[in-house]
Amino acid sequence: MADTASTAGTELERQLEEMLEIEKFDPPASFVERANLADPAVYEEANADWKGWWMKQARELSWFREPTLDVNESNPPFYRWFEDGKINASYNCLDRHVEAGNGDRVAFHWRGEEGEERELTYSDLLRDVQRFANALKDLGVRKGDIVGIYLPMIPEVIVSMLACARIGAPHNVVFGGFSADAVKERMEFSEAKALITVDGARRKGRTAPIKEQVDVVMDDLETLEHIIVVKHSGDACEMREGRDVWFHEICDAAAPECPPEELDAEHPLYVLYTSGSTAKPKGVLHTTGGYLTGVSATHSYVFDHKPGEDVYWCAADVGWVTGHSYIVYGPLCNGATSVMWEGAPDYPHKGIWWELCERYGVTIFYTAPTAIRACIKWGAEHVEKHDLSRLRLLGTVGEPINPKAWLWYHKVVGGERCPIVDTWWQTETGAIMITPLPGLVSTKPGSATRAFPGVLADVVDEREGNPVEEGQGLLVLKRPWPSMLRTLYKEDDRFVETYFSKFGRTTYLVGDAARRDKDGYFWVIGRIDDVVNVSGHRLSTAEVESAIVSHPKVAESAVIGQSDELTGQAICAFVTLNGDLAGTDELIDEIRDHVGERIGKFARPKRIIWADDLPKTRSGKIMRRLLRDIAEGRALGDVTTLRDAGVMAALEDKIKEEQAQEG
Ligand code: ATP
Ligand code: MG
Repeated sequence: MADTASTAGTELERQLEEMLEIEKFDPPASFVERANLADPAVYEEANADWKGWWMKQARELSWFREPTLDVNESNPPFYRWFEDGKINASYNCLDRHVEAGNGDRVAFHWRGEEGEERELTYSDLLRDVQRFANALKDLGVRKGDIVGIYLPMIPEVIVSMLACARIGAPHNVVFGGFSADAVKERMEFSEAKALITVDGARRKGRTAPIKEQVDVVMDDLETLEHIIVVKHSGDACEMREGRDVWFHEICDAAAPECPPEELDAEHPLYVLYTSGSTAKPKGVLHTTGGYLTGVSATHSYVFDHKPGEDVYWCAADVGWVTGHSYIVYGPLCNGATSVMWEGAPDYPHKGIWWELCERYGVTIFYTAPTAIRACIKWGAEHVEKHDLSRLRLLGTVGEPINPKAWLWYHKVVGGERCPIVDTWWQTETGAIMITPLPGLVSTKPGSATRAFPGVLADVVDEREGNPVEEGQGLLVLKRPWPSMLRTLYKEDDRFVETYFSKFGRTTYLVGDAARRDKDGYFWVIGRIDDVVNVSGHRLSTAEVESAIVSHPKVAESAVIGQSDELTGQAICAFVTLNGDLAGTDELIDEIRDHVGERIGKFARPKRIIWADDLPKTRSGKIMRRLLRDIAEGRALGDVTTLRDAGVMAALEDKIKEEQAQEG
């Protein structure tokens, strides 16, 4: 079968190739004219008085009691922000917009997998959240109790999160793609009192019996008093007397008005586990006032969001921090109108995202490099079929983006007129930390550019922690910021050890490697563990991957360093080819030469392994640590967040085959 999806040899491929030579992309004049932030002095101002800058952002929120204190630094790294303030997240997301007369504004254009549509206005959400908050109280859920949420992308997931926030019960959302076992582990560890889940979840035309799966594992969990079930797929499920209740029934029985709790700024808002790309997932704890300050300020400035005008779509799942910060709390604080899509990017067809962008007139679109790479594989024609002329800003998050994927996004999706904000941040940082401000900063494909105003980022050497002027080093954050994690849930020691032990208690160790260029731009090049040292040359795996992916026959690649007697480490590349192309010895030589030309001979992969697919986390990130494990013949580390175990089995077979041939 001919591979129509590949860009190989096409006019588009040639154009992208040419664009690789462009160093910088300036913000379009029309964009600058109306940008929320267009005065470059903002960086210096925020730098000169960073506490004052954050306080100013905090004052944009609605407080029951305005804070007078900025940051309490008396016991680092346990920082406290806006301590004397009183606030409620659900009030900021809903009531204040309704009180300002914007209750009829659409908060979410929800679209179901089979084309169903629901419009949820701010008033609708406020009504539903109050009822459900009362229903939780009726069940005995109190301020401080943890509530688990294991739901698909349906409006009830938003209602559940905000109802918890309203009564001060921290939520612990588990991404719907995780297994029931993973849910149980998280519920057990956080001693959740209640779990909100669903009868069944729809997945590309089928349904998964979620409640039934939950029942199998949750039976012996004593701390879990209630399971609240949203009726969604209509699948029959058993309801255990005394423990299980229907979401709609308890809402119907609850009182309609529930005033928001006046909470301390440092009251816990949620616990969320990291993706598990590098190690066993960590339970990150975020609190209320500082977190809302971070997510609302960044949402407004980074996405240049204009309430009442823009239609915004963050195409992540609420189960990840991106969803928490940029589907729920940031956009709702700012009165945004968003799109919420229940399904996958390729169901019912590979152009569904773009069909929805056209239908709802999306102006701001935010996704991950892994999704862009999938779209490239599927082909530009799925995008080009749709009218995307309303789009004015694009964003990415999650991994370093290869320049070629950046350019494709810029050209095919953005029509060469939309700035791209490559946003670097983590579950731990709560909000975007390194990013272009789209009306102020020229972009370079592959660079997240500059630290957000008020944030002090640096690249330092491994030994002493001194700033690295040239070349790569460890990324650190040298000041506290309002939306930072407060601890790892019930693991204070691990919190200090992981982030604040290498360079002392006031320097946050990110865990990523980065470099700065002559303009001071940051290039985040991957995890610390993903740096390879070949004959004394320190190379980032991302750089080699970008070179490999720029070969027209290559769709995706993951590079790891493997111990090597001769060179210390040698480069081993796992390569997925476009469409149905088959790997040959000639192609191996071609790819090696290609990398040699782009970076240098020393960077040529010693070993290339053809992979039909790469192991990824459930959020779509490549798990290089598992590739290192199999390449070195070790037992695999924690695989609970691996999306598809079949991928690893297939790769292990490949490697055995390779060894058999050599032996
Ligand atoms: P774990 O910490 O459990 O290993 P994880 O780090 O993948 O999982 P997240 O908090 O979801 O969990 O991801 C944050 C990481 O994602 C960052 O540390 C960085 O490695 C990567 N990342 C996010 N955005 C970008 C970006 N724009 N450019 C480069 N890397 C990014
Ligand atoms: Mg991490």
